Amino acid sequence: MKEEYILPLAFCEHYKKILGEKSELFFEACKKPLRKCIRVNTLKISVEKWKHEMDKQQWKYEEIEWCPEGFFIDRPQEDRIPLGKTLPHALGCMYSQEASSMLPAEILCTSFPEGYQQKKILDLAAAPGSKSTQIASKMRGDGLLLANELSGSRIKGLFSNLERCGVVNSILTHYDGSMLCAKFPEIFDGILLDAPCTGEGTVRKDYDALKNWKPENAVQMASLQKRLIAMAFESLKPGGVLVYSTCTLSEEENEGVIQFLLQSYTNATIVPLDTAFLNAKKSITREGFLRIFPEIYDTEGFFVAKIQKSFSASSPNNVFPQGRNGKFPFVPVLKREIPFLKEYFQNVWGYDFSEALLQKTLWKREKEIWLFPEGAEDIFPYLRCDRIGIPVCTLHDKEIRLRHEYAIAFGSQFLKGFLEVTEKEAYEIYEGKDLQTASFGNLEKREYVSRYEGIPIALGKYNGEKWKNSIPRGNVRRG
Ligand code: SAM
Repeated sequence: MKEEYILPLAFCEHYKKILGEKSELFFEACKKPLRKCIRVNTLKISVEKWKHEMDKQQWKYEEIEWCPEGFFIDRPQEDRIPLGKTLPHALGCMYSQEASSMLPAEILCTSFPEGYQQKKILDLAAAPGSKSTQIASKMRGDGLLLANELSGSRIKGLFSNLERCGVVNSILTHYDGSMLCAKFPEIFDGILLDAPCTGEGTVRKDYDALKNWKPENAVQMASLQKRLIAMAFESLKPGGVLVYSTCTLSEEENEGVIQFLLQSYTNATIVPLDTAFLNAKKSITREGFLRIFPEIYDTEGFFVAKIQKSFSASSPNNVFPQGRNGKFPFVPVLKREIPFLKEYFQNVWGYDFSEALLQKTLWKREKEIWLFPEGAEDIFPYLRCDRIGIPVCTLHDKEIRLRHEYAIAFGSQFLKGFLEVTEKEAYEIYEGKDLQTASFGNLEKREYVSRYEGIPIALGKYNGEKWKNSIPRGNVRRG
């Protein structure tokens, strides 16, 4: 951050009134540059292996106490290509995510120690997907994750992050959160509402965050937040857990919103977060919320609250589900067609397809075969979905063609039909280049998944001369 950075006067006056003497520490922290953090995506790599990688690259790191997969990192000077352009990022091994923003998903997920089979989790305001991918890594492909985002322009980023991270059990939708929830009273076991907010807590990474700061902004934002939290609560199953978070510090958008919820619903109970992690008490409020000022843990500012629905309050007009959609283009794959697919995977990829089918279902759209998450049938008839689960393969007259998404998500388990490539080759594949294959010995003419240290990159066909890269155009990275 530039030294001359000056916080807006109105902002300082406002927080001086609230914090008194403590405001100076807060203002100082707001001006300090933010530490870099990453979260390991355990759908692709274990934390142990990742630490070994960081040691190899001579990165210094410090564990983030509330997230076992999170690290503050410090990379050697000569290694300062943006994290988003590195190979581990492209492979989906990590997500560049601020430390305090790892808390909401972590807190939500500790509510499911028994796992996620038959569970439905909703991420109501999901783009660009840091928390959706974090939740998905805990779910390990079980249950269903509905990732919703209102903004059309941000959906693309959400989709590409879910794909990059190998998420297979999600449904992606594009709705106003309150409209979506209105369709599904009392259906979700867990809901994350990482609400749109005024973003006061993000000033350490973005000077402009406070440029147009005025107290009225928070009041205005709070009315959207109240609408979203009320409908999210309606959508929560009895016994279910709702985590509400923002990256702002204003009372209107935080305590005020929760207060509104508690006044509106007698069955909403606060779950105190004082034991959420070792030093949680440093940021706990009287009510049991985490109000994280940037100086407390040297992070961004954040707010997290956890609410449980203690009993059902559904009324006769509030019966799930509501508003059936029009024609659905998928039909279930017939039982008798499944052995044929299992045989294909066994013969061509040395892979047991039955593993992927546990709890999930196969659907067909013309020639395409798709894998839908468990419980998807309760959701898709009532929504327009941008994506349900992942495509598996396409049935052509003379052959079956595996789909890129499936190869990326499951290709590390293939015992046949893969090429282990070098780091340099991996970068070249992401640049859209073909591979010279001399170093791989005698290859059969067929399709292969390229992998770096066992992690899939892309499909391509060996044509007798080279491996022709068929990485989707949208996944090609320049430089
Ligand atoms: N959870 C995201 C993550 O961790 O990557 C960040 C979410 S951001 C704080 C809030 C998101 O809410 C924005 O992407 C915004 O476009 C979206 N949003 C705004 N209004 C919404 C609404 N009415 N329904 C659903 N999402 C909305």
